[in-house]
Order: sequence, then structure tokens, then C-alpha cells
Amino acid sequence: MTEVVGRYAPSPTGELHLGNLRTALVAWLSARSAGGSFLLRIEDLDSTRAKEEWIDVQEGELRAIGLDWDGEPVRQSGRDSLYSEALDGLSDQGLLYQCFCSRKEVREAASAPHRDPRLPVDAYPGTCRDLTDAEREERRQAGRPPAIRVRTDGARVSFRDVIHGELEVVLDDFVVRRNDGDYAYNLAVVVDDAAQRVTEVVRGEDLLDSTARQIWLYRTLGLTPPEEWLHLPLMRGPDGDRLAKRHGSVTLEQVVAEGGTAGEVVGRLADSLGLAPEGTNCLAPDLLGEFSREALIEGCKRASD
Ligand code: GLU
Repeated sequence: MTEVVGRYAPSPTGELHLGNLRTALVAWLSARSAGGSFLLRIEDLDSTRAKEEWIDVQEGELRAIGLDWDGEPVRQSGRDSLYSEALDGLSDQGLLYQCFCSRKEVREAASAPHRDPRLPVDAYPGTCRDLTDAEREERRQAGRPPAIRVRTDGARVSFRDVIHGELEVVLDDFVVRRNDGDYAYNLAVVVDDAAQRVTEVVRGEDLLDSTARQIWLYRTLGLTPPEEWLHLPLMRGPDGDRLAKRHGSVTLEQVVAEGGTAGEVVGRLADSLGLAPEGTNCLAPDLLGEFSREALIEGCKRASD
């Protein structure tokens, strides 16, 4: 059996939300309870939003709830040459094209009557897929820098998620390099999870569609995908809506400012997924003994009902 390698991969764009902390906690519990390693990767590719100062803040928050990680965190901003190599691999297969659409245009085109009915409503409908050289030139002249999309031909990707079971997703042509030159999340995360030999990915269920795209990239680039995917329900407030500021404190700092403790936060996060009884006050390592996949699956199902 391969050794378990788990990871948490925050984007340093602010303080971690309690939902992020819960994902980190479960990712850590899952890897460590199996005697595996746990990596922290700083996803600082978004040059407009990622800020150096948030890295220390987020690491402090993770330590405060009792998490640790193996080795120095890898930072995506230093790995452009790897992402560029992967992009070349797709280009060599003739799979890339330039896309000049703005977000608004994608939204409008996606709701047009002739779109592929198999695709989700917010999927890219392929507007720039077959532009002629002259049309591309015209758009470049208009001054709009292109993003790079990958041609997936509406591939269907099936995969198994530990929490959600078997899933099948129809792919659109997604962005692998943004029009500001930054490599896109889906490309970078595949390159890094493969390079770091990650065996299990724990993250929020809002990324289920991204997972299908990533699996397609692993296959197309000849890389080995993680063995297990666990997509956790999004954290909810008492009214059942996605946890937001109006529900009160949404970061560890806010909880502490109101007299709460990191131990209470860990207890609350664990309780919300059935991993500890209500009122628990402890740090992450105290939950290791009781942690089980079965309890997590059960807790996630209850949290989604
Ligand atoms: N940086 C991504 C996020 O914070 C990571 C998602 C993932 O775990 O792959 O949402």
C-alpha cells in the first residue's frame, strides 16, 4: 500500500474562514490518522489577490488549531517553469486555443439557445474555439489579451468521491492560463499534486466540477492522479445558508476577539461533521484517536441534509 500523502492548499488572500479551517482540519485528520504525511502548499498564483502577509497569518491560524505539516510549504509562485512545461504538453497535442471572451460574454453566450444542452449553464460554450486567423488577429488588434483554453470536446469524466460516491461530469473547454498571464488553478493544482505525490485530496464540494477537469488533465498529461477525493459539504450557519458574516464570527480571529478560544473552534468544526460531541473543547491532535472515515462520511451526509 502506498503511504498516504494529504495536503491543504490555501490561497493567501485573507484570513482563513471557518469553512477553510474545517477543510484543513479534516485533511490533516485523514492523513495523520492513517500515519501519512501532510503538506501545506501556498497557492499564491493570483497576482492580483495573493499577498505575502497572509501567508504568515494563515500558517498561524493552522498552528493555533493544532495542525502541523511536513517540510517547508511549497509556494506556487516559484514554479512557473513546471506549469509552462505542462502547458507545452497540451500545446504539443494541439489542444490549446486563445479565448478573447470577457466573463460577461461567456455568461451571455452560455445562456444562448444553441448551446450544448449537456453542459452546465455556466459552462463555456466554445465561442472562440474555431476562430480563423483573421478573426483572432482582429480581436488582438482590439487590444484584448487572450486567455488560453483547452479543447476537451465535451469529454465525460467519471470518478468516485469518498463522500459523494460515483459522479459523472461533462467538461467544457476550461481556462489553463488566464488573460493576465497567471497560470490557472486547475493546471497548477494538477502539476503540483502530481509532483508532490499527493494520494488524497480533501476540499470543499464547490470544487467537484474542477476535480473532473483535473482528472482529465492528469490523463491528458500522462500524470498519476491522487487515489482518493473527499469533497466536504460547505459550512452552514444555523439557518442552513452558507456560513457568512451575518451569522457572526467567521474567522478564528473574530471568535477570539469575542472571548472564544481555538479549542472551542476546533470542537465546533468537528461537531459540525459529527467528529466530536457538541461542546468539545480541544485541539486537532486530540481528535486523532476517535477519527474514522465512516464517522466522517456519516457526518458529511447529515451536514448536507
Ligand atoms: N487554493 C484552492 C482554494 O483555496 C485550493 C483548492 C484545492 O484544495 O485544490 O480553494
